[in-house]
Amino acid sequence: SLTAGVVAVQGDVEEHAAAIERAAEARGRDVTVREIRDAGHVPDCDLLAMPGGESTTISRLVHSEGIAPEIRDHVAAGKPLLATCAGLIVASSDANDDRVDELGLLDVSVERNAFGRQKDSFEAPLAVDGLEDPYPAVFIRAPAIDDVGGGDARVLASWDGRPVAVKQGPVVGTAFHPELTPDSRIHGLAFFENDDAAVPPLEDA
Ligand code: GLN
Repeated sequence: SLTAGVVAVQGDVEEHAAAIERAAEARGRDVTVREIRDAGHVPDCDLLAMPGGESTTISRLVHSEGIAPEIRDHVAAGKPLLATCAGLIVASSDANDDRVDELGLLDVSVERNAFGRQKDSFEAPLAVDGLEDPYPAVFIRAPAIDDVGGGDARVLASWDGRPVAVKQGPVVGTAFHPELTPDSRIHGLAFFENDDAAVPPLEDA
């Protein structure tokens, strides 16, 4: 059985845990989800999610709790990470905010609350590279992604002319919240259909 970790210092942790369980079940995988609040547990995880919430708080706590270097090691080992909204901001290489100490796992800069001025929250049918049908994407004070050109990140989806989903090796980052809809295809793409990520294979039943 796979072990999944949800970085649980702040944010919509339970929703991610449920989404991981749905995605695993849809693919016939057994998964045990752990909430990660302190150091020492990420090394046991086959896959990892960093949720939406408040990026300055998540940043502060992953560093003070000693989780940050473990997340970096997880990605360096080629294991998948899905970082959503505030999680994406923390995983980026430039949050354009001094209160965020970025993990630098995605070669992108982000603009916090980029979609927040006109509408705080909205749902959009998003065309996502790798998915056949549009994904119902929920945006809540979402960041936009900038400066994708210079690094190794690849844009998976854009909204309003700005990137809102990227992939770089085993890391998928989304400005929206795939954990808030029953549709588990983004978790599937990040964890189980991610050619650049190492996940232990399904054992024969
Ligand atoms: N606006 C939040 C931030 O910048 C992110 C919002 C979210 O995760 N829904 O941290």
